[in-house]
Amino acid sequence: MSVSAPTPAARLPVDRQPAATELAERAARYAALEWLSRPVWVFDIDGQCVHWANTPALAVWNASTLAELCGRDMGHDMSESVAQRLAQYQSDFVLRGNTSFNEQWTLYPGGVPVSLNVRFSGHRLPDGRMSMLCEGEPVGVVPPESLRSVEALLHTAVMITLYSQSGEALYRNPAARAVVLSPGERLQDRIGNPAAFAALSRSLEQQGVATLTLAVRTPQGDRWHELSARRCNDAITGQDAVLVSEADISAIKHTEERANFQSLHDVLTGLPNRAHFTQRFARAMEEARAQSMEAALLLINLDHFKDVNDTLGHAAGDELLVALSQRLRHTRHGTEVLARWGSDEFLVLLTSPRIRADLDALHERISVALAAPLSVAGTPLCVTSSMGVALYPQDGDTIEILLRNAGLAMHAAKERGRNTLVYFDGSLAEIARNRTELEKELRQALEREEFEVYYQPRVDVATNTLRAVEALVRWNHPRLGVVLPAQFIPACESMGLIGQLGLWVLAQAAHQQVAWAAQGFDLVVSVNLSPRQFASPDLLHDITGVLRQAGVNPARMELEITESMLLGEDQHVLGVMRELSALGLTMALDDFGTGYSNLAYLQRFPIHTLKIDKTFIQDTDANRSLAELIVSLSTLMKLTAVAEGVETQEQLDWVAKRGIAQYQGYLYARPMPVQALTDWLLSHPPKP
Ligand code: C2E
Ligand code: CA
Ligand code: CA
Repeated sequence: MSVSAPTPAARLPVDRQPAATELAERAARYAALEWLSRPVWVFDIDGQCVHWANTPALAVWNASTLAELCGRDMGHDMSESVAQRLAQYQSDFVLRGNTSFNEQWTLYPGGVPVSLNVRFSGHRLPDGRMSMLCEGEPVGVVPPESLRSVEALLHTAVMITLYSQSGEALYRNPAARAVVLSPGERLQDRIGNPAAFAALSRSLEQQGVATLTLAVRTPQGDRWHELSARRCNDAITGQDAVLVSEADISAIKHTEERANFQSLHDVLTGLPNRAHFTQRFARAMEEARAQSMEAALLLINLDHFKDVNDTLGHAAGDELLVALSQRLRHTRHGTEVLARWGSDEFLVLLTSPRIRADLDALHERISVALAAPLSVAGTPLCVTSSMGVALYPQDGDTIEILLRNAGLAMHAAKERGRNTLVYFDGSLAEIARNRTELEKELRQALEREEFEVYYQPRVDVATNTLRAVEALVRWNHPRLGVVLPAQFIPACESMGLIGQLGLWVLAQAAHQQVAWAAQGFDLVVSVNLSPRQFASPDLLHDITGVLRQAGVNPARMELEITESMLLGEDQHVLGVMRELSALGLTMALDDFGTGYSNLAYLQRFPIHTLKIDKTFIQDTDANRSLAELIVSLSTLMKLTAVAEGVETQEQLDWVAKRGIAQYQGYLYARPMPVQALTDWLLSHPPKP
């Protein structure tokens, strides 16, 4: 403790000085101490003033009279830490009667530093309050380093305690004293955990030092301390002792904890993330194995989440995810582990002795929770999900395999119309294997030219004469034979191969148009365009190049697009369509009736041909009435209507009665290879 000579401002006004009678009483009470040659004084801790002092003490304090010293307000420039320490001493005196402490003080009477060893002990004032009896002893000439180190020990925030071999505290610096719950606290009490204390003792014994990070309870609350202990000898008794220093690392620890939490949780929803789930999975599986329980991995994928993001924006998408995460959290009943696995994907790990029953119940809870009405960005939404389940141990015993199989089951749920749960079974793996195999082979197929374009005639209803042909691609698979487009076009689209394939088909078709024209059959050749191709910024450039290279008359080429392609950004789509028309190409709207069937907005697009989907031609009367409407509107809009999928004479009669101009279908001819069609043309020459 460093106490400087009081400044004039620190003196109490004269009227705060004790009355003369009071002072006389005090002098009489402490008369026996007056004659000691060392400075002795009584300090009133509550009043923060000197209660009494002998003459040598007056000199130390640089006070002219006892009255003046007793009138000084010692609390005035006392630091918070000194005040706190005095309060600790006071409570220690109350708790442990004959305790005393030694501290080295530096006082500045008359501005000259004087070092004193001060011994404090508890002393009851006549009114019963605990005060402090202070006895000073000059320390002689102390080297400045030593003085400074003593000061440092008193003021440092590092908590330093010297413990005896049996764990009793022999000395605590003020910082250490401030964090103990009771002055009698031993080292083993401080560490709490017996195993940790044993480890510390072992390390001290073997290496002489030990360190430990521990959570401690202090009067200021729970804190994290880093404790280093070192074996030493007590300077007074020479006996074995342990010097312990502790630093408060709570701030670091909390930052670390926060970082730890963030690394294991999804930022948006606060749910455990992949890393967390993987850790928990390992533990849960160990438990499941030990208790021979079954386990299941349930993968939940929201249906149509992309639409929310695309139409209402990402902020709305996030809002939806947060709300749904909350609901999913409440579906947990016990030990299920729930995590956010991907953008709109959640994963649940369930362990149970009755896994099927528990899964069914959980599925029910999740469906109900998700189905409750919800409004996002002011738009009411109805949410469903597709779920896939893989069971442990029958469907796999590692997270990778279970996850893959749950994923396959989830995809099957999507394919079965969404909003359902599918259990994994071996056939799903077979389908997936085939799909992967197919994808691998598709890449090679383009290089190896395994594709071939077939052509299907389009015929004039009235004259039964060939008007055009549609190019339809086939894959001559080395093992499987002829593969139809439904088997590989979707894969080409998702793999990004469709652009290349589509252009190849267009080139083949354009060359074929020229070749037939040279033989006297100047047919219109129509080619299907995939939505992916349509979205490509290179589309116009690529098409122009192909047509020019083939030397074809663009007016004899037609592009078939679907309604969905017209739903994109209006101006862009319109621009592309206009440029394609400007090249001389005609456009056909394919599969009409299966989409939005909004004829009115079609007026804005340069469309020449309307191909009515085969379901309207082949299906029930109810559908046919919509077909009739389409036909009459297309007549109004001066579009060439084409009936697709005409297989029977009855269907053709109906088509003819409705005034549909052309048809395409097995009734007339199936799609066929070039040579077969050429032979067909030669045997059925189109009438002009
Ligand atoms: P699409 O454009 O609607 O082609 C007509 C489909 O109907 C063809 O199937 C054709 O063989 C079939 N079809 C024709 N007449 C009849 C009939 O009387 N009854 C029945 N049940 N079906 C008939 P295909 O060749 O299997 O092609 C299927 C789809 O694959 C096509 O439907 C088209 O969307 C797509 N596709 C074919 N070739 C290409 C291509 O080169 N590029 C792109 N992007 N898609 C293609
Ligand atoms: Ca088509
Ligand atoms: Ca079609």
